[in-house]
Amino acid sequence: MKKKLDVVPSVRPSREEAERAVRTLIEYIGEAPAREGLRETPQRVVKAFDEYFHGYALDAAEVLSKTFRDVGSYDGPVLVKNIAVESRCEHHLAPFIGHAHIAYVPDGRVVGLSKLSRLVDVYASRLQTQERLTAEIAAALEKHLKPRGVAVLVEAEHFCMKLRGVGEAHALTVTTRFGGLYKKDAALREDFLKMTKA
Ligand SMILES: [Zn+2]
Repeated sequence: MKKKLDVVPSVRPSREEAERAVRTLIEYIGEAPAREGLRETPQRVVKAFDEYFHGYALDAAEVLSKTFRDVGSYDGPVLVKNIAVESRCEHHLAPFIGHAHIAYVPDGRVVGLSKLSRLVDVYASRLQTQERLTAEIAAALEKHLKPRGVAVLVEAEHFCMKLRGVGEAHALTVTTRFGGLYKKDAALREDFLKMTKA
């Protein structure tokens, strides 16, 4: 039977197997894995992978589980700008690095501001496309916080583009996702875009 490759394997390869795979890649480029500088590289790369992809062990529901009702009479949007984004593209495993700007119009409930950057980390620390990352952040806020509106803008430089493409060294990819009031209300959307640029 043909092995299905589009499902997550039920048994994950061991750490040793992962290190062996890195060694294979080192050999593939014509290097000698046994030379001094490379001897511990497989262990280091697997350890780095643990850090890059720690998002798989995190849960957005948990990050957004604690909300607050006491916001006084404040009824405007909450915007957190310039949240650092460090992710890896699923096509080349190359980093893409930039910022996320997140706004929501609360429906009586807000989350701690630091939770928004933790939410970005949950999804950024996985193999991603910038489009999906943007959509997942918005969807998680809609699902767990149920705001009246949500807006997410991500801008990032993709190293797979920077390093390989001619003239793409400074290309910035911008993705947006709007939900609820931000979808219906053009003025609110304009405000968000203006504030993220300021
Ligand atoms: Zn890429």
